[in-house]
Parts: sequence; C-alpha cells; structure tokens
Amino acid sequence: MRKITRKVKVGMIEIGGDAPISIQGMTKVATSEIPGLLKEFRKIVSSGAEIIRVAILNEKDVDSIPIVKKSFGVPVVADIHYLPELALLSIRKGADKIRINPYNMGKKYLNDIIKEARTYGIPIRIGINSGSVKIKDSLVESMVASAIDALKFFQDKDFHSLVISLKTPYVRQTIECYRQVSEVCDYPLHLGITEAGRGLLAESKSILGIGVLLLEGIGDTIRVSLTEPSWKEINIGRAILQSTGIRRFEPEIVSCPTCGRTQVDIPSVFLQVNKEIKKLVHRYPKVINLKIAVMGCSVNGPGEAKQADIGIAGGKGKFVLFKKGVIIGTYPEDNIVEKMKDEIIKILEEKNLT
Ligand code: SF4
Repeated sequence: MRKITRKVKVGMIEIGGDAPISIQGMTKVATSEIPGLLKEFRKIVSSGAEIIRVAILNEKDVDSIPIVKKSFGVPVVADIHYLPELALLSIRKGADKIRINPYNMGKKYLNDIIKEARTYGIPIRIGINSGSVKIKDSLVESMVASAIDALKFFQDKDFHSLVISLKTPYVRQTIECYRQVSEVCDYPLHLGITEAGRGLLAESKSILGIGVLLLEGIGDTIRVSLTEPSWKEINIGRAILQSTGIRRFEPEIVSCPTCGRTQVDIPSVFLQVNKEIKKLVHRYPKVINLKIAVMGCSVNGPGEAKQADIGIAGGKGKFVLFKKGVIIGTYPEDNIVEKMKDEIIKILEEKNLT
C-alpha cells in the first residue's frame, strides 16, 4: 500500500498524498539557449513529462523560466547549486519549485530562500546526491543523516513544503536510503537513480531502483536519469509506472514470446496491433483501460485470450478471436488485426468508453 505523505503543489501538479505519482524530466540544453530549450520542452512534454527541471547557472538562465512556463504551462523547477541569489531570482521569476542541495548553499543563505519560497508559496526539494555528500561511515548512513539534518533545519524554521530525494548510482544503496528516510518522515519523496549511465544496464538500474520502491509504496514523483536524450527518460518513467500497475498510459498487451510451436507471425501481428492501438488512442483515449492478448498457440493462448477484453490465439495461419472470454470466430492471419480493431471499437462503444 502506498505510504501517504504530505502534499505539496508544484504549479498545477500535486506531489504526495493521494496525488498520482508524477513523471519529471530535466532538460539537457543550456537553459539560456531559448530555441533549443523550447524544442526540448516540446519533445518531453509530448512524451509525457509532467514537471520539468532546468539547470540555473546564471541570470540569463533565470530569464528562460517565464518563457517556458508561458509556452507550455508545465510546472518548471529551477535547479540551483552554490549561488543562493539565483534561487531567489528564480523564485521571483516564477519557478514552481526549486531544487537545492542545502550543503552547497550555506545555512545562512537558506533562511533567505525559505523566506522567499514561503512568500511565493512554492516548495523546495532537498536533493541529496551521493556525489556531493561527505561519506563518514557508510554511504547510506551518510546520505540519510544528511537528509535528516537538512530536514531538521527546515522544520526548525517551520517550513514544511518540502520534497526529498536521496539519489546514488547504486540500486541497493538508493533503495535503502529511501526506505530509511520514508520510515522517519512523511515528506513526499522524489525517486531516482542518478548518473545511471546509458543503455540496457542504465535502464535496468532505474527500473529496478524506482520500481522496487514504488512497489513497497514509497515514492511520490519519479525522474529517470540517463546519459541519453531526455524524452527517453520520460518513456522509461512511464513504462515503470505502467508496469508496476500504478498508472496507465496504454492498453496492457499480453503477447507470447513465440517458440517452435508458433505457426503464425506473432511479431508482425503484435506490431500491427500496437500501431492500430496508437491510432485508436487519439480517437478513444479510454482504450488504455483495455487488456489485449496476442497469443501464438493453443497451449496458453486461449487461457490468456479469454482473460483479456480482446484476445487472439494462433493456429496454422489463422487466429481464434476471443471477446470477453467468448469465441467470436476464426480468421486468417492477414485480416485478424482489422477484425480485432473492429471488436475493440465495439467494446469501447458498449462500455461507453468513447
Ligand atoms: Fe509457444 Fe504457444 Fe507459448 Fe506462444 S503461447 S510461446 S506459441 S507455447
């Protein structure tokens, strides 16, 4: 069961409490490079980013905040290190949240930031990263102690509009950090495996680290960090939320991996089904709630196909089509996708999901 945390508001998006677990992205171009920034925003917003963070290194970067906010309406988070005056400026320029690492800001400046965040009603993310923490005993103990110490500072100032992150590039340690902090506080947690790298291993680290925590009920917002384009991070984030059953962005498609028994071209049928679904989503957004099965033979095929809203089980060059567990008919391989599509639309109409 999800651990209920305090709720904070980042622009029009809520983090924590019963709010949907949101997907965050971070841009990779220089924030002051407006054409490139707008292009990247367009790409990651259309991929599904719900909150976008930008790196703030100077005043020109701060000037981009109102521009992207006006153009996209997506909440913007200003990421600031070392320069407290840029945090203040970002807040005044409309940042919906700021992300700081309190340990590289100096506590006396934090008071000014807290004051400004309170005035403008925005939250602060305390972002603890393994790369910037002083390691005493173990990495986990040092990270958790840093987070708790920083939290105490903000609590003493009676400032509670906080989000916390404790990122490392290591799956086990990151999970342990979040578990421990989740035990001792109820502030919303921003999950991520930082500096995961690129390729399959990096994706696996992110999926495991974030996924395990989410399945334990820990975490309120996520960001996947890859040495790859930012839209890819959003895609992986969505896949994590969908595969953990937390949110739905597309229909659940069960499909057989194929084996020596397969006598139909399952990979090709799967791709065609997927393509049709992508087209249908625009016309019928609620199609994402359906379960679809694309199965190869009579071993597991009828069983899976019966449990789906719509399913097909292959034979020799043909498929049996099931709708809600009932056989509709048998159709040749070359028109099964069209037939499935018709039946999907009928289900949506019958269920009033159009
Ligand atoms: Fe093989 Fe049939 Fe299983 Fe597909 S469903 S992997 S064809 S046994």
